Amino acid sequence: MALWGGIEAGGTKFVCAVGTGPDDIRHEIRYPTGSPDETLATAVEFFKLRGPADAVGIASFGPIDPNPASSAYGHITTTPKEGWANVDFVGAVQSALDVPVGFDTDVNAAALGEWKWGAAQGLDTFLYLTVGTGIGGGGLANGKPMRGLLHPEMGHIALPRDPSVDPFEGVCPYHGDCLEGLASGPAIQARWGTPVEELLDEHPAWELEAHYLGAALASFICVLSPQRIVLGGGVMKHAPLIRAVRKETRARLNGYIQSPAILEEMERYIAAPALGDRSGVLGAIALAQGAAS
Ligand code: ZN
Repeated sequence: MALWGGIEAGGTKFVCAVGTGPDDIRHEIRYPTGSPDETLATAVEFFKLRGPADAVGIASFGPIDPNPASSAYGHITTTPKEGWANVDFVGAVQSALDVPVGFDTDVNAAALGEWKWGAAQGLDTFLYLTVGTGIGGGGLANGKPMRGLLHPEMGHIALPRDPSVDPFEGVCPYHGDCLEGLASGPAIQARWGTPVEELLDEHPAWELEAHYLGAALASFICVLSPQRIVLGGGVMKHAPLIRAVRKETRARLNGYIQSPAILEEMERYIAAPALGDRSGVLGAIALAQGAAS
């Protein structure tokens, strides 16, 4: 039976796993992201020791170039993360292991994991949005990973901000008060001076967070018509938040989208990831499977 390798490559940590699915992960390591050379060497060593995997999938932080026809295919492109800009991620793994390599954004991979084994099973158009250190979205459209010019950058959409309610100008180095600039973990911490995990339930941060996420989700629903939205990431671990986001999203849509999913089944429509923190690494395993077929 075939064995798959998955790399979930994050800006702060890497997770590498070998297995066939959620119930069959045979080996796994986690380690902090260092320089590209040492970080990729650790991954390659792991697969040599714990494999051999028949293919490897890479779920990467971005921006990346996922277009196989491009000369920069398989690279991380313009990341501000030191040393990682223009790294040929796929090339490094492929030349060291000599197996097919699948490559996509961390969020597209997480979406794929949720589609295969989690909260998005049976759907062909849906979103996976992570709200954590950054905000990113991916998913499937008509059964295929969302890609085009490059890949979606849902965290960087413009949002209405009323300076009399929220004078905070945002933390995105490119746009200031885009979605990520206003609603990511670092944005919450910068605005209120308290890390997300230390905010009490009654802190006004949560109401404002739900307001921005609801506005963003309503826009995504209007533009992409997803059959479901899966909301993951560290900020979403605050359990009451998802309920408030459902409410804000519905309020923002204001009855315009006439679908039972939104009018009656919001609990299912805006869902937590069924794979929890495992969507990314399992998505990478699903990418490996796809690369081999
Ligand atoms: Zn931005």
